[in-house]
Order: sequence, then C-alpha cells, then structure tokens
Amino acid sequence: MTSTQTTTHEFQAETKKLLDIVIHSLYTERDIFVRELISNSSDALEKFRHESLTAGDVFDSHMPLEITIDLDEEKHTMTITDTGIGMNRLELETNLGTIAHSGSSAFLDGLAEAAKKDVSLIGQFGVGFYAAFMAAARVRVQSRSWDGSEGHEWTSDGTGSYTISESPGLHRGTRIIMELKDDAHDYAKKWKVENIIKQYSAFVPFPIKLAGETVNTVQALWTRNKSEISEQEYTNFYKFIGTATDEPRYRLHFSADAPLAINALLFVPKENFEVMGFGRVESGVNLYCQRILIDQHSENVLPDWLRFLKGVVDSEDLPLNISRQSLQDNALLAKLRRVITKRFLKYLDEQAQEDPEAYLGFWKTFGVYLKEGLTSDYEFQKELGRLIRFESSRSEAGSPIALAAYVERMKEGQDSIYYINGASRAAIEAGPYVEMFTRKEIEILYTLDPIDDFVLSHLGEFDGKKLVSADRADLDLGSEESPKEKEEGEKQEEARLEQGARAVLISWLKETLHDKVADVVESKRLVTAPAMIVNPDGYMTTSMERIMAASRREKGQEPMNSKKNLEINTASPLMKRLAELQKSDAAFAAEVAAQIYDNAMIQAGLVVDPLAMVERNYRILNRVAGGA
Ligand code: ADP
Repeated sequence: MTSTQTTTHEFQAETKKLLDIVIHSLYTERDIFVRELISNSSDALEKFRHESLTAGDVFDSHMPLEITIDLDEEKHTMTITDTGIGMNRLELETNLGTIAHSGSSAFLDGLAEAAKKDVSLIGQFGVGFYAAFMAAARVRVQSRSWDGSEGHEWTSDGTGSYTISESPGLHRGTRIIMELKDDAHDYAKKWKVENIIKQYSAFVPFPIKLAGETVNTVQALWTRNKSEISEQEYTNFYKFIGTATDEPRYRLHFSADAPLAINALLFVPKENFEVMGFGRVESGVNLYCQRILIDQHSENVLPDWLRFLKGVVDSEDLPLNISRQSLQDNALLAKLRRVITKRFLKYLDEQAQEDPEAYLGFWKTFGVYLKEGLTSDYEFQKELGRLIRFESSRSEAGSPIALAAYVERMKEGQDSIYYINGASRAAIEAGPYVEMFTRKEIEILYTLDPIDDFVLSHLGEFDGKKLVSADRADLDLGSEESPKEKEEGEKQEEARLEQGARAVLISWLKETLHDKVADVVESKRLVTAPAMIVNPDGYMTTSMERIMAASRREKGQEPMNSKKNLEINTASPLMKRLAELQKSDAAFAAEVAAQIYDNAMIQAGLVVDPLAMVERNYRILNRVAGGA
C-alpha cells in the first residue's frame, strides 16, 4: 500500500438527506456545531480513558487528555484536536459516512419537521459530526486510532461523497479541520468561539485549550458540596448533560455512604419528548466511577421506565475497569439501581406533599412512565402506588387524587378501593356503573386512560385495601345503610316486578340472549338504568377487553368479546313492560331485549355489530311510529 492511496465513497442516502437539512435549514442555530464537535471529542477522550484502564498497553499513552482549538483568521479555518480514542480507516468510513441512529428515517423526518417549525429544537436532536457542515465549506478529519494502526484523512465538502487517504505520522486522536464558509468567518475569532464554549461546553470534563489558554474549569459538579452550587450552575449543568434547552422541573442531588457510596445528580426535564413525536427517548443518565465515565446513557443504572431522567450517577464502589458488557448482570449495579430508584421515588413523594400542584404538573407530563413502572416492575410497587393519581367522584374534574387521599375518607366498614374506567368523566357519570356508588355515597375512582385498569390490577391493593373494578359481577358494596338510603332502597323493592314474573322474565332473557351472554341476573346495584354489562371473570375488566379488541383490530382479526353477564333492573319501567310484551309478542320483545343488550355493551365501551344494531333500531322505531 502506498501512502497516497485515496478512495472515494458515496454518502449513505440518509446521510445525504441529513447533510441537506444541516446545510440548508439550520444555519440560524449555527453555534451548536462547536458544541457537537467538542462533545464528540469529549466522548472520544472518555472512551480512551476507560479503555486504557481495562486494556494494558495503549498507543501514545504519554499524550495528555485534552481538546485543543486552533483558529486562523487569515486562512479562515477552525481546527479541533483531541487526544481521544481516534478512528481507524474502517471506523472513519462507517462513523462518518452513515447515520448510526436507530430508526434514522423517523429521526430525519422529526428533524426536518423541527427545522421548519422551531429551530431551537434542533439542539435536542444532536446532529453530531455532520453539524460541522453548518459552518464549513470543506471538512478534513485526520484520525489515528488508539490501536496504533496507520492514521487516515477523511475529506468532504458535504455534498455527495467523501474521500479517505492515508496520512502518516499522526498522533493518537482526531483532528477536525474546517475551512469556514464565507459567511462563517467569525468562527475563526477567539471571542466568538470562547463565548460558545462558555455557553455550551463549560462542563466538559477535559481541558479545552483555545489559542493556548484553557477556557473551561474542569469540574465534576455532582461531587461538590450542595451548598456551594448555585441554581444557575445546576441549570447550566442540566442543559449541558441533557443537551437540553428547557429548565429542569425537578432536581435531586444526593450522596450516600451506605449501603453503597453514591453521588447522584438527577433532573426531571420540563417536557416529555417521547410524546412530542421524537420517538422513544434513550436513558439520559450517565454512570461514573470516581468521576470517570463508565457508561454513557446507561441502560443499567436505572430501570427502563425512568429513561426520562437526565443526570449523573457516580459510585466509587464499582470496579473502575468494569467493561460495558458486564454491567448488565452486575450484582453491585443492581443494588445501586435499587437504592437510587427508591431514593428518587421517595423524593417524588416528598415533592407531592410539599407542592401538590407542581407534582400534578409532573404527573400529567410523566405519569405515564410511572404507570409503565407499575405494570412492568414489581420491585417498586409500594412506592409507585403512593405516586399515582386518578380523578374520582369526589375530585374536581382535571384534579386527580392520591390513593392515600381516597383511603383517608373511606366510609366505615368499606374494605376496598373502587374504580371504573370510561372514556371521560361525563361518560362515566352518565353510565350505569356509578349509580349505586352515588346512592351509597361511596367514592369511586375514574380511570380515564385504558391502561389504568392494567395498572391497578397489577398493583392489586393499596394500604391493605383491595383495588376493585366496579364492573365486576360479584361486586358487593356492603350492607350498611343510611336512613335515606334505606328509604330509597325500600321504594325500589316495592317497585320491582313481582317474584313470579321476575323469574319468567329472567329465564326468557337467558334463552333469548343465550348466544350473547353468559348469564342474566337481577341487579342489586342499578338505580335507574334498565341494564348493565358486568364481568363474571374476576381479573378481566371491560377496559382491558377494549384494549385487547383494539389490538385484534390492528392485527386485522375479528373482535372477540368474552361472554359477560347482563344485570337487569327489575324495578325499571322498561323491564316491567318487557315482561308484559314477552307474553303478547315474543318476537318483538326479543328485538327489544337484543337492543337493551347492545345499549349496555355500548355503555361498557364494548364493540357491537353496528349494522345489525342500526337495522334493528329502525325496526323498533317503525313500530313506535305506528308501523307493523
Ligand atoms: P454520535 O456522536 O451521535 O454517535 P456523530 O455523527 O457525531 O454521531 O459521530 C458518529 C461517530 O463517529 C461517533 O459515534 C464516534 O464513534 C465517531 N466520532 C465522531 N467524532 C469523533 C472523535 N472526535 N473521535 C473519535 N471518534 C469520533
């Protein structure tokens, strides 16, 4: 091989698309390219430091770990050099020719969208190395890997292709030489670059040298004493590690000596980027050991459902030379995860007590993650149970309450916490399920999100009280009654069909609806509604069934309702008329029965056959209007 061997490569299609956005739409947020490149250099230095601890022999081991920025105002160039891990030929080709992002096409769509709407959002994306082309007409990357193999130079003008050629005599690390565009000559000025570094890169854990001077103070903020850190420093640090533009919502900075030595600084962002169309967020917490980065965006230091957190966990109990692969099943790390998770959940609980309103803001934005935790992780159920919030028959609309608040005002003798799922507060309150709760003045939680029933059935109980869905067939609200309740109950008993007619009606309904229902029973709970659907199966609630029906629909499968019980209100005028009608015109009575069943299904939020229902409905209306 000769030292001048040069090869030319096409950029991958996605990379071309990204470059096109970077070059043509992002120039108003240009400054961030400096941050992106410094952050790449810092990552490369962290990687080198970690590898040199695990591996024995490393190339160019005498080089100080630092970032150097050289500016040339005459030639209009900016050069960023690091003594990090470097790249060999193959790495230059794969790292700087393709996009490593998982789901890169979704990423690109999101980016293009953001570029149109609000360029300041770009910061959240991390355009990475390609950001260099925001300011440079041509970029040269000289790099030599820590493995000591020969160095190479990568060159491109960011349009269609790039070249790679050998470049002998380089030190370990990477040098990025940018030939600045005509309208970007300012980036060769010291004041300009110094300002950008102070704004975005103040916390880079390696010296950044600009024109021979170190411009950042290298410090690990989380190891400093809380009382010495200003709000501004915390916020700046959050913005730095989270590449965030917002202010944090919550902050927890704590240290512990036992059972493990821990120093942690965690932030809850203001926004939940997962629901803003940015796709699944990756963990924002980095794992350090004695200030050395062991695992960036660590998936091991916190449970997956806390992936919205940003920050740092540092534990000197971890072995410094632990490899990233062995983190996954490391027992010490599992312990660390447990301790930090418990501490964070305790912190949230404290916040909820101190400032309930701010906590509700958190709950509305990030509650979905806590729900995810409850359904996927048994370990923290108790703590999570304290943190969930739901609306209830006694709460104000839009102001969910804690289970503890429900328990506190439970009626004497009440041993369960009741809930019912529905599409909205209004729909639940108009439906049949809450009638008896209203009469008996028993509070009931409204679970407005379909996954809530999964959450509550996973939780099972709270504070020794069972969590019970109000659409269960065997629901028993207890017999203790107030005088008013007693009076209303007696009135209803008097209004019922007499015993014999009741038995006839029920057995006829069972027969008529036998292919739809598991059973027909007389309701002890209905007050005015003529009928309702209840679940004979103790575990499944109708809302869970709705979720399963939706997922069957998505897969193109037929809906599959398990058979339910129909509870009928034998005191309702309609049921009483139906008992009469059945004697004189059984065929038409069967139509009415089928319609009552469909109505009850709809009130339960379940699927009916709309065509058959509408046709039947017209036949009934026709009769009402005087037809035959
Ligand atoms: P990201 O940093 O998000 O992975 P980039 O496009 O910025 O994406 O970089 C792609 C890859 O190129 C990095 O993951 C890293 O492996 C490599 N790389 C970039 N800059 C450097 C550098 N200064 N030193 C060593 N490797 C680098």
